[in-house]
Amino acid sequence: MYYKYVSIENHEEYAVEHLAFCKALGLKGRILVAEEGINGTVSGTVEQTDEYIRVMHSDPRFSDMEFKIDEHEGHAFKKMFVRPRDEIVTLRLEEDINPNDKTGEYLSPEEFYEQLQRDDVIVLDARNDYEYAIGHFRGAINPKVDAFRELPQWVRENLSEHKDKKILAYCTGGIRCEKFTGFLLEEGFKDVAQLHGGIVMYGKDENVQGDLFDGKCYVFDERISVPINQKEEIIVASCYYCGQKEDRYVNCANPDCNLQHVCCEECEVKYNRSCSDECRQHPKNRYKRELQQSS
Ligand SMILES: [Zn+2]
Ligand SMILES: [Zn+2]
Repeated sequence: MYYKYVSIENHEEYAVEHLAFCKALGLKGRILVAEEGINGTVSGTVEQTDEYIRVMHSDPRFSDMEFKIDEHEGHAFKKMFVRPRDEIVTLRLEEDINPNDKTGEYLSPEEFYEQLQRDDVIVLDARNDYEYAIGHFRGAINPKVDAFRELPQWVRENLSEHKDKKILAYCTGGIRCEKFTGFLLEEGFKDVAQLHGGIVMYGKDENVQGDLFDGKCYVFDERISVPINQKEEIIVASCYYCGQKEDRYVNCANPDCNLQHVCCEECEVKYNRSCSDECRQHPKNRYKRELQQSS
């Protein structure tokens, strides 16, 4: 997992070349390329990913790019995509922000951990509602947005009286906060900080060990979530059907619905991983097909 805000000329052409390069290496994953930079997650063997990092670091634009590395059995993706985009994270501000010019103060996991415990700060989760639902920092505000681009509007409606307070923002890997904290400064917030490297690096820090992060961290690949807190395991979400503490996400087996919901293993069997009676009866229900295939 990596990103960098750096100018990429002819980003559409670059995306085509980069896809061919990734495929030749045998990687799988999802990479977004824009004029403003690159944002990707790829998976492969240690040799493949080492070679990828070596080649990327040999490009002066990406020579100091930080890669967050997780060990995982098998690929975390089914295919390899490199897509040209207008932005590497979609915020769609009226006036775009370049984090290289304006962004919040970077806090290391240890600094963030210390400031989290102050009572004069606002801890703001810059992610979406479904990400917050299965894990977040203790005491963090959930703006309950469905998409990142809704966050500026939420700030204008709900946070405007707190422009003198210190804001601590965080997201999964840090990329959204780079732009988002720049936006907060632009809006007139005086003291804005961001968790450098996001929740993912916070969970890897040897000193804080994920302390004060409750639940799991949602990730955008086949793993769906990863553990963060090494000191205590707290489950913050509950099963959609029975209400028991659970943080396992599944998608509704009706391909036309696909609703992502928290579901315990027992209820997955009992309700055929279907969020409603209608979805359960749907002729294309995947759960029933899987059962037929495996019997
Ligand atoms: Zn259940
Ligand atoms: Zn459904």
